[in-house]
Amino acid sequence: MKNQLFIDGTYCDAASGEVFDVIDPSDRQVFAQVARGGADDIDRAVGAARRAFDTGPWPRMSGSERGAVLRRMGDTIAARRDDLARLEVQDNGKPLPEANWDIDDTAGVFHFYADLAARLDNSAEQDIPLAMEGFTSKAVKEPVGVAGAIIPWNFPMLMASWKVAPALAAGCTVVLKPSELTPLTALELGEIANEAGLPPGALNIVPGFGPEAGQPLTEHPGVDKLAFTGSVPTGSQIMATAARDIKTVSLELGGKSPLVVFADTPIDEAVEWIMFGIFWNQGEVCSATSRVLIEEPIYEPLLARLAEEARKIRIGHGLDDGVLLGPLVSPSQHEKVLAAIERGKTEGRLVSGGGVPEGLEHGCYVQPTIFADMAEDAWIWREEIFGPVVCVKPFTTEDEAIRMANDSRFGLAAAVMSADLDRAERVARAFRAGIVWINCSQPTFTEAPWGGTKQSGIGRELGEWGLNNYLEIKQITAYDRSRPW
Ligand code: NAD
Repeated sequence: MKNQLFIDGTYCDAASGEVFDVIDPSDRQVFAQVARGGADDIDRAVGAARRAFDTGPWPRMSGSERGAVLRRMGDTIAARRDDLARLEVQDNGKPLPEANWDIDDTAGVFHFYADLAARLDNSAEQDIPLAMEGFTSKAVKEPVGVAGAIIPWNFPMLMASWKVAPALAAGCTVVLKPSELTPLTALELGEIANEAGLPPGALNIVPGFGPEAGQPLTEHPGVDKLAFTGSVPTGSQIMATAARDIKTVSLELGGKSPLVVFADTPIDEAVEWIMFGIFWNQGEVCSATSRVLIEEPIYEPLLARLAEEARKIRIGHGLDDGVLLGPLVSPSQHEKVLAAIERGKTEGRLVSGGGVPEGLEHGCYVQPTIFADMAEDAWIWREEIFGPVVCVKPFTTEDEAIRMANDSRFGLAAAVMSADLDRAERVARAFRAGIVWINCSQPTFTEAPWGGTKQSGIGRELGEWGLNNYLEIKQITAYDRSRPW
């Protein structure tokens, strides 16, 4: 297990010599200590990334050469999938099958951007037809420079890949700051990068706390671009800091995403997607469909089925067979979610769950919880809880469902279920959200754009859009001296 900073191709201690504890949320016990990065370490890491960008080989290599390195990184991640997934379970709490998906997806993201890097060799330049004779012009894609990436704890290695892989594919160099709650799998990327032949300094990893390591990274004048996933207040602070030096930012923030279920939806399908939409990964998912709107004729029967199925969910240690819901990531997240549930009990009808499961008091466990009948201005209906808590309300008309779905300061995701595909498409287009699912909720594809509107963020990750985040466009215009204008 790697527990040091990774700077300029080498694992090393923090300049302060300090470490911090990492706990296993299934029993709240400390199972690792990790170097505690601070401003000095960020300065060293940005210095290494700056040198690797300004004078190193990485941005000067062809796209296919960079792609070959990224492909090897993806291959190693795939080969080490079992160990990495188990480490993710210990660090984050999620059930092993979900950790396996995460690591498979992480390898897939590196493979996908390996291919896009290679394609840049033929697509990085575009001739621009000009109206005026005597001039030729082209648009050339170039890497932005040094990218600072700050990531959360809910998909620790996958979120690292969403930023590191496209940034490296573009030819940028990176300083990655993982969450202080889950730094371990991201730290493995250092060794994986070295084995794959990534030049020193192209990827640097500095674990540490937000104010101590994240803030100095956002403020550092050597960073050209910031990419952040996490909470709205931190995202807002990062944007304000970035404004000082006019750094480019992309932000992926929270959500309170709606799922609208029309009465022509088969009940079993609705149950399956509602449950998956809110309870996978303990509901610690930015795009979780945490507000469910059900058309009146099926409201009560569907609610009853949901309560029945939620009670059957097996809760326990992420490594135990058949477990569908692990502990929340940390004692503080556990407290936050339990406090939200208590508030919910004063605002709505508790249909299922509502506390700590019996016999699991030693870990950060929470029952899958369903609330109904809250007012539209209720706190639990409007605010992101980031736990296994879903709020359900009835609706009678399509217009009412769309109005309630869009009545949120967030706009990350939304979903609609109906047997009438014309209606589903119409509602999908009416949603004010960056990601919309029809007759499903949550499936995420590396090829497709990911990101939100309103306070859910700025910009898109994944697909070619994710690569464009790390590319600048330069105009090169030449004058043909033989043809005076
Ligand atoms: P956070 O925004 O505090 O932390 C996310 C990352 O930002 C971490 O790496 C953290 O160390 C860093 N950070 C914190 N303060 C910083 C600062 N001032 N400057 C730079 N970096 C800083 O989020 P959290 O405490 O991990 O989670 C709180 C809430 O955020 C959750 O309850 C949830 O609502 C939301 N969240 C959203 C996502 C998502 O995918 N959109 C993921 C995790 C959490």
